[in-house]
Amino acid sequence: MGGFFGVVSKRDCLEDLYFGTDYHSHLGTNTGGIAIYDEESGLQREIHRIKKTPFRTKFEKIFEDFKGTSGIGCINDSEPQPLIIRSNLGTYALCVIGVINNKEDLINKYLSSGGGHHFATIDRGAVNTTELVAAMINQKDSFVEGILFASEVIEGTASILILKSDGHIIVARDKVGRLPVLVGKCEDGYAVALESFSYHKLGYEDIKELGPGEIGELSVDGYVELSAPHEKMRICSFLWSYYGYPTSTYEGVNVEMMRCRNGQIMARDEKLNGTLPKIDYVGGVPDSGTPHAIGYANESGVSFARPYIKYSPTWQRSFMPNTQSDRSRVAKMKQIPIYDLIEGKSLMMVDDSIVRGTQLKETAEFLYENKAKAVHMRSACPPIMYACKYLNFSRNTSDVDLITRRVIIELEGEDGLQYIDEYRDSNTDRGKRLRQTMCDKLGFDSLEFQTLQGLVESIGIEECKLCTYCWNGRE
Ligand code: SF4
Repeated sequence: MGGFFGVVSKRDCLEDLYFGTDYHSHLGTNTGGIAIYDEESGLQREIHRIKKTPFRTKFEKIFEDFKGTSGIGCINDSEPQPLIIRSNLGTYALCVIGVINNKEDLINKYLSSGGGHHFATIDRGAVNTTELVAAMINQKDSFVEGILFASEVIEGTASILILKSDGHIIVARDKVGRLPVLVGKCEDGYAVALESFSYHKLGYEDIKELGPGEIGELSVDGYVELSAPHEKMRICSFLWSYYGYPTSTYEGVNVEMMRCRNGQIMARDEKLNGTLPKIDYVGGVPDSGTPHAIGYANESGVSFARPYIKYSPTWQRSFMPNTQSDRSRVAKMKQIPIYDLIEGKSLMMVDDSIVRGTQLKETAEFLYENKAKAVHMRSACPPIMYACKYLNFSRNTSDVDLITRRVIIELEGEDGLQYIDEYRDSNTDRGKRLRQTMCDKLGFDSLEFQTLQGLVESIGIEECKLCTYCWNGRE
């Protein structure tokens, strides 16, 4: 995954660019980069790895070397960017957020199309995705035609920011709006971002959200639409249930509010179905499980409590370690129990989702070790059946990692995967067996999942406008 931020201003905008980009740090852990435009110096760029050191620490020296009136920045899990490209369209800086599934095809077609094209390679001959997108854009005579061409040939998702050599920014939302892109305005200029709270904190107010596939240009004079949005939208539902920042609002729906509503709907349905167990407290698996749990507690009438707290002053990023064993060790070190809220208590824990299940199993063990009487688990979204192929979403990148598929294969071999639709449904025999086997395997006293209808209801946007591929494989 990743996120980007851009700004055009009548004054020096470096500070806005620095903080605005930093506010996307929850979306990526690998590299951070900025490009800034100054009338005298032109385009300048700085990139750092941020795996072990946060963005702000790595970039604090930019104030000594840079100044400028417009800039773009990004944080991501993949290759370094922004890249500065010199081409037939002029010199420009480029950021791309998303994933390209037909990357090798596009590279081969481009290289064999004549004209002696080439790419600089990164590790083991791989091509930087951003450079590939630049190669697609440069095949046309204008940025708009180039972006439209790139969107047509790319299978996957690509939202784009281009900082031109005149200091204007071209912004393009991916063709089905899988990710949001919003524009804000202040007295001195405009900002564009994936996370709108990033510019709210810097004094900008929302002026628009780009539609799917929309392309526009930002200058100090305002936003000009260059290519109209498409009708078809498939915005990622997981933005709300897991990885979007709670303070953000996409398509008019705030993340924290959706999560509380989602928990409420789960508790409402459990009351109706008679599956609500006798519990002392409802708690959230921190951090994103917490608002789902607050909603659940409010609706069920059971007190919300935090049976353990994450020690965050020095363990800030749980997804940083590379191996599962390191991740588990870090997760354990961070969990500090509150004995009075655990010993002899029946606990209901709510998490945003269950992907591999490893950490939730360890959380249940940790609560039992601290003398919990019972640990009931609730997933704030339905069982995940398909790995995400639209975003470079680190949480669920491969089908074989998904605990649902591993359990199905265990139950009836690879053939079982042809019954995924039955396994998705909690009312079928297969659906019941899947849930019970997962519950036994992970060591919970009970396990239930939010339904897809419940999730869609809590977002409040028509299902046909949402991407729900993770759960039902619908393209
Ligand atoms: S597949 Fe899942 S994570 Fe990927 S875009 Fe769709 S809803 Fe989001």
